[in-house]
Amino acid sequence: MDTFVKGMNVIVTGGSSGIGLETARLFLQEGARVAICGRDAGRLAAAANNLGGQSDKLIAQQCDVLAKDQISAFVDRVKASFGGIDILINNAGQGRVSTFKDTNDDAWRAEYDLKLFSIIHPTRAALPMLEEAKHAAIVCINAVLARQPESHMIATSSARAGVLNMVHSMAKEFAPMGIRVNSILLGLVESGQWHRRHSEQADSGETFESWSRTLAVSKGIPIGRLGKPEEAARAIFFLASPLSSYITGTALEVSGGVSRYA
Ligand code: NDP
Repeated sequence: MDTFVKGMNVIVTGGSSGIGLETARLFLQEGARVAICGRDAGRLAAAANNLGGQSDKLIAQQCDVLAKDQISAFVDRVKASFGGIDILINNAGQGRVSTFKDTNDDAWRAEYDLKLFSIIHPTRAALPMLEEAKHAAIVCINAVLARQPESHMIATSSARAGVLNMVHSMAKEFAPMGIRVNSILLGLVESGQWHRRHSEQADSGETFESWSRTLAVSKGIPIGRLGKPEEAARAIFFLASPLSSYITGTALEVSGGVSRYA
């Protein structure tokens, strides 16, 4: 099947690990040019090697999405090297585990800053080029927490609700400019953070598979396991590619059925 992304230019923020890395791989496999960024130089270099090395098809640049000047420099390099931007995947970030009592003002501000400005900065920088693209799309990585808050992740849940709302407004505003905007609502997807928790919490000798299946049961995931990064990547790819050309303003859940809302 033709996925229509051959020759397209794609930015994946936080493309040096997990879901972002698998998303970058998928676009490269389908013939797109891809630019990834992340803060840690070592992780970024390893990801670039894992994707076949930097080339005229792959840019890997150190960049914190919360630093406007770094985002500008990254987007300028993509423009100079690729000639434009068709697709922006706002994926960079992480969650914060804390209850109301544990969350001080600085932590609240940091969480809102990360969740909102990790989308605002890259989007603002890429917008002029997206406006010029023929099939432009933005996909924002969000979480089921936006609709189903967890009290042990109070700041993340509430910031994610704000993101859900913001993405909807962006979709309406950008549609006449020919730019589609959608989001993904993730449940629990295997990534560095879950492997770290396995190392800290599992009984000695318990495999990640066994530990994560128990976790999936305790979290009430009907499919009975955590998602894999490549499973999230395929949904992101669909929403970003012209395969979903009539879809904008939607939030697609990729969670193994964990949500309790209808
Ligand atoms: P990973 O930790 O594997 O990947 C996160 C990526 O984001 C890394 O490349 C990291 O690189 C990068 N990153 C983080 N902060 C910044 C920043 N300020 N600027 C630039 N890059 C940054 O996690 P996942 O693949 O699991 O997560 C991808 C997205 O999905 C995240 O936004 C996460 O919050 C979200 N998500 C994940 C869930 C899950 O269960 N896995 C559930 C719900 C949402 P570096 O640290 O070097 O900067």
